[in-house]
Order: sequence, then C-alpha cells, then structure tokens
Amino acid sequence: MFKPLDINDNKENKTGETTASEHLKCLIIGSGPAGYTAAIYAARANLSPVMYEGLQPGGQLTTTTEVENYPGYPEGVTGPVMMEDLKKQAERFGTDVRWGMATRVDFSGEIHKVWIDDEKLIEAETVIIATGATAKYLGLEDEKKYAGGGVSACATCDGFFYRGKDVAVVGGGDTATEEAMYLAGLCNKVYLIVRRDELRASKVMAERTMKTPNIEILWKHQTKGLFGDGVVEGATLVKNQGEAGEEEVKIKIDGFFLGIGHTPNSDIFKDYVNTNEVGYIKTIPGTSKTNVPGVFACGDVQDDQYRQAVTAAGSGCMAAIDAERYLSEKHG
Ligand code: NDP
Repeated sequence: MFKPLDINDNKENKTGETTASEHLKCLIIGSGPAGYTAAIYAARANLSPVMYEGLQPGGQLTTTTEVENYPGYPEGVTGPVMMEDLKKQAERFGTDVRWGMATRVDFSGEIHKVWIDDEKLIEAETVIIATGATAKYLGLEDEKKYAGGGVSACATCDGFFYRGKDVAVVGGGDTATEEAMYLAGLCNKVYLIVRRDELRASKVMAERTMKTPNIEILWKHQTKGLFGDGVVEGATLVKNQGEAGEEEVKIKIDGFFLGIGHTPNSDIFKDYVNTNEVGYIKTIPGTSKTNVPGVFACGDVQDDQYRQAVTAAGSGCMAAIDAERYLSEKHG
C-alpha cells in the first residue's frame, strides 16, 4: 500500500535522474543511542520524525556484548537488546524507522536535501545528524574471528570483563594511552603495542602511561595475529629490530583492545557542515547546532572526547529539542 506523504512529487537530482521527493519536518540520519533518543524526543514533540538507520542499524553498540554502564539497567544489557529497546521506544511514539543510507546532501537552501541510497530524495526542514564514528581496526582476519571473544575497540565498555587479567592495547596516541590507563586500573597487566619508538599521545598522557607500573610498552612492535581456542588467549607480534631484522614475539593475553583512533562518519556533510581537522562535526558549544541553520549533530560524529552511549543519548535529546525550537521560531 502506498503511504501518503506531505508532498510527493518528481524532481531531477544532480545526476539528472528523476526521483520521488518527500517533505519532512525532521529527518534523523543514524540509529545509535543518539539517533534513537533524538527520535523519541522529536516524535513526542510532534515532529513526525523519519529515521534512516544507516549501514549498521543500532550503531557501534551492536558490536559490543554486555553494556553495564548505561543507567537504568542494574543487571546490564547486551548492546543489541538495548538498541532494540530504544528502537521500540522511538517507534512507540510514531518514529518512522527505515532501512537505508544517506549518501549525499545539499544543505545550500532553507530546505535541506538528503538523498537516500542515491535514489530517494528527502527534503527536510530539520536534519539531525547522528551517524556516529567507526573505530579503526588493523585489518587482520583474526579481529573478525575473535569479535566478541576478546577483541574490543572500547576499553570503557568492555574493560570490566578483564578484571585481574592481562590485556593488550594497540596504538600510541591519546586514545590508546587513555585506554591503557583505564585498563591498568582494572587489569593485572597491560601491554601497550606501539609501532614506533615514541608515543604520539600528548606529553602528559605519555608520561603518565610510562610511569604506570603495570603498563609495559612494547616499542616497535606490530601485531601479526591472535590465537586461542574460540576466545583470545594471546597475540603474535613482530618486533622491528632495525638492522638486526625482525623477531616474532608471543604474549599471553585475554583481551586485545584497538586504540588506533576513530573515524567520524561525516564525509557526506563536509561540503556544508564545519568539521575539525580530523572530521568531527563542530557544534556551537552547549548546543547541537551546526553552522547550517536547521542542521543539528549529536553523538559520536561530533564528540571526540566522551564517546559513551549515555553521552550520545544526552546529545540526541539536545538535538531534538534544538530542532523543535528552530521550527517553532521559524513558523511562530
Ligand atoms: P591518533 O591518530 O592521534 O593516534 C593513533 C595511534 O595509533 C598512533 O600512535 C599511530 O601510530 C597508531 N596507529 C595507527 N594506525 C596503526 C596501525 N595500523 N598499527 C599500529 N598502530 C597504528 O588517534 P587517537 O584516536 O589517539 O587521537 C585522535 C585525536 O583525538 C587526537 O587529536 C587526540 O589528541 C584526540 N583525543 C583526545 C583525547 C583527550 O584529550 N582526552 C582522548 C582521545 C583522543 P603512529 O604514531 O606511528 O602514527
């Protein structure tokens, strides 16, 4: 059955194809905790939000196992269950959650244009960008093999499961040193696997890391693979010894953490929305407003500091309230 739309006419997109367009008050792009919280608030404010879920419905949390630090779940909850709950809550108030990916935008006019899967054109008065960030992985087959079995890209989410155990963190920047410091407070021993002979991290973090007794820095080491029977039991590393060649080293660990950075999923917005030097969307401090009126950003795509489900949810709430106020001011 055909669902009636506010406006549904045919227009030509930039490539000259004819596409059906749909006019919305509020479009939400991305379906992590930020997107769903924005959806709950926007739906309850009668903005009739439509959400496109993106490539990874539910976002990064669907790749973690137990979430124990989100308030309101005293026994913990798995990432996928929590995201299903958030989705149900958003739908309960009338959010139209759809499968599809925003592939292109044009924010040059007062009405914002977003193309879904390069086909469908959405024209929205407000757009809430909640596309998140993607943790970088080394690209090893073993990272996939042991996903959920000892490989993680979030120490704050998963570190607790490795209390008293030995773990490794890869990377030498602020993310890796911060993860290593966090894990050092929980674990017996933390190996920091650094590919060069110096840290990229800020001086203060580098010094703190080097002074922590249960962190051992493995300088000039790269990860070759992981081993273990179903779960991670160790890693095979290669030590670069300069002219003396390479040496293979094995370490026994229960957890392998990636700390080589995140990539904010902001590429398609960059022609219109201001980002910082590494791609995080800039918002006006204390708000979710971007430099484009009517376009708001929340969650990890604009946050290189906290990156937690609960902070993402909080910023999603802010985005919906900012969108609602923008529309009220516009329409009186
Ligand atoms: P960075 O790009 O700063 O550092 C990435 C680290 O990972 C580098 O040490 C890099 O090595 C290493 N690395 C990258 N690829 C590989 C690979 N394939 N194999 C092995 N090692 C690899 O990323 P961060 O996420 O650490 O930081 C990003 C930005 O966010 C920075 O500006 C940082 O200051 C900021 N940040 C701030 C925080 C805070 O203030 N609390 C917390 C976290 C991040 P190499 O040095 O050899 O290139």
